[in-house]
Amino acid sequence: MLIGLQKLDLEIDKTLKKKEELTYQIQALEKELVSLQEKLTDKERELKNIRRQVREKEKDIEEMSLVLAKHEEEKYKVKSQGEFTAIEREIAQVERKKEETEDLLLELMEREEELISYLPSFKRETEEKRKSLGEEKQILSKSLENLVHKEEKLRSERKKKVSQLNSLLLGQYEQLRRTKDGLAIAAVKNGVCQGCNVGVPPSLISRIRRGEIVYCESCSRILYIAEEG
Ligand SMILES: [Zn+2]
Repeated sequence: MLIGLQKLDLEIDKTLKKKEELTYQIQALEKELVSLQEKLTDKERELKNIRRQVREKEKDIEEMSLVLAKHEEEKYKVKSQGEFTAIEREIAQVERKKEETEDLLLELMEREEELISYLPSFKRETEEKRKSLGEEKQILSKSLENLVHKEEKLRSERKKKVSQLNSLLLGQYEQLRRTKDGLAIAAVKNGVCQGCNVGVPPSLISRIRRGEIVYCESCSRILYIAEEG
C-alpha cells in the first residue's frame, strides 16, 4: 500500500514540477507580448510627437518669414544709416534663426518619412508575432489545464489510499518523505538498500519477508523487497 502511495506521490511531485515550468513559460510569453505591444506603441507615439514638432517648426518658419518681410519694408522707410544698419542686423539674425529651424525641420521630416515607411511592416510583424505567441500560449495553457486535472485525479486517488492506511505509519511516511527528498520507501535489491546503497543485514530482510515494517539502518527509509529480475 505504501509503495503504491509513494508511486502516486512521486507522480504528483512530477506533475507539480511540470505545472511550475509551464506557468513560468506562460508568464515569459505574456511578458514578451507586453513588450512587443510597448515597442509598437513607442514608435507610434514617436511619430505623433514628430508630426507635432513638424507643425510647430513650420509655424515658426512662417512667422519668421513674416518678420523678415516686415523688416524689408522698414528698411526703405528709415531716415538714418544707423537705423538702416540696425534693421540689417536684425534681418541677419532672424535669417540665421530661420535657417537653423529649416535644418531642424528637414531632419524631423526625414525621421517622419522613415517612421511612415517602417511602421506598417513593423505593425504587421508585431501582429504576426503576437498571433504566433498567442497560439503558443494557448497550447501551453491547455497543457497546464490538463496537468491541473491530472493533479486533481492523483490527489483524489491519494485520498482514497491514505484513508486505508494506518495513521501512525502514514505519519512516519510523510515525515520520511519530507526529510528524504521525497523518497520514504526504498527497495532492497540483492541485499542492498536502493535508497542509500548500503547493505541490509539478512535478519532484517527476513523480517521484511515476514511482513514487518522494517527501516533501513543506514538511511531510515521503510524497506521492501524488490521483485527480482
Ligand atoms: Zn537505506
